[in-house]
Amino acid sequence: MDNITDHRESGLDRTGRRDDAVRAAVGQGLLGPETPIVGLLDVTGMRESAAELRTAFDAVVAPGTPVLHAFAVKATPLVPVLRLLRDEGIGAEVASPGELALARAAGLSPDRTVLDSPAKTPAELREALALGIAVNADNPQELDRIDALMRSAISDSPLGIRVNPQVGGGSIGATSTATATSKFGVALRDEGAREWVVRAYAERPWLTRLHAHTGSQGIPLSLMARGTAETFALAEEINRRIGRPQIDTIDIGGGLPVNFASDATTPTYAQYARTLREEVPGLFDGRYGLVTEFGRSLLAKHGTVVARVEYAKSAGGRPVAVTHAGVQVAARTVYVPGSWPLRIAVYDGKGRPKEGPEVVQDVAGPACFAGDLLAEGRALPLLEQGDYAAALDTGAYYFAHHYAYNSLVRPGIYGFAPDGLGGVAFATVREPQSLDEIVAESGGAHASALTTLRTP
Ligand SMILES: *Cc1c(COP(=O)(O)O)cnc(C)c1O
Repeated sequence: MDNITDHRESGLDRTGRRDDAVRAAVGQGLLGPETPIVGLLDVTGMRESAAELRTAFDAVVAPGTPVLHAFAVKATPLVPVLRLLRDEGIGAEVASPGELALARAAGLSPDRTVLDSPAKTPAELREALALGIAVNADNPQELDRIDALMRSAISDSPLGIRVNPQVGGGSIGATSTATATSKFGVALRDEGAREWVVRAYAERPWLTRLHAHTGSQGIPLSLMARGTAETFALAEEINRRIGRPQIDTIDIGGGLPVNFASDATTPTYAQYARTLREEVPGLFDGRYGLVTEFGRSLLAKHGTVVARVEYAKSAGGRPVAVTHAGVQVAARTVYVPGSWPLRIAVYDGKGRPKEGPEVVQDVAGPACFAGDLLAEGRALPLLEQGDYAAALDTGAYYFAHHYAYNSLVRPGIYGFAPDGLGGVAFATVREPQSLDEIVAESGGAHASALTTLRTP
């Protein structure tokens, strides 16, 4: 490993960029007493991760293999993020009409887009097929609907079936999609299921893809590789039994876990690609195109939510910092802290990293329930009024996933990059939500809707 890669993977560069950005956000007034919470996105880091993903798979596939890396939009559903990734050669995996609208607003073309949701309506399927977007059917009933559409119109959409290889779950139940009873895909080991899948392909020459997503955070690489190995073996069996290479593309899903314990990137895309090449060599011999659907691993480590300490108090001998970041930006961490611990970095009132003896304390959010804690009993330099607490690795599934508890406003999100003059430049990714927007989204236009309904 050369020095540059070493620095990148250890996360030293990332730490430095983040510290510079927090200080600049305070210095430039993006963050302060009147704007006590922001989300920050590291543009340099996002581009690096996208490049690492491309390079990792380019290194293992046969020359000329078509590869589409489709970013799982649910991880960070922000149009400027999708546009940046498009700029880096990354497509989009969408799972709802909203996500498809975001991908289209970002300028992603249909041939760089994959639709995967488990609950597609006939209208969604019709639109996807009309646009030529790739669709993976989740179940036999959905395939019936696609059959009907294929009888009535021609479509350029590459079509496939999602299977559940049922190889088992990881350490987090909610993100394990290959358990025996997972709600996703055709459960391959259930009685008769494999035969049904083979027949489905044999009867439909237009089914050319096979899809599986074995799980997300908490799934070890070995289990992800087993899920892909099972999927590959099924594709081979189908093509053998049909007698021609009808399946021409395998979609291996996403799910590379993220290290939430330090700034280091581990595991890396390169490690995963090498594991796959060892465990499933046939996948890369040039007979199959490849689709991937990574989400968290592309974005998590490039996001930071920074919140001002409004009050520092003490209860039962425990210091408690009451900040502006809680359940509204970190719902999973607040509700399931054991599965989703977040690192907290401490900055002083000028946005400089704060040193000092570690004190066991709670970092609380602004919401009105006792469990609204970003970190409980955490040893950190003491947070004082006017300091800033930063929740790290929150670029995916956190501050872009606002939870409207207490009608707390969605914070503004800003991308940052070096300004070329030794400072930091920011660009608005999403404006902070206004109170007028909160009222409008909460039925403000229908204030007398209920009082005008007459009770008989
Ligand atoms: C959520 C999801 C992904 C992305 O998972 P990550 O853990 O964010 O990489 C990919 N494909 C499908 C079908 C998903 O549901």
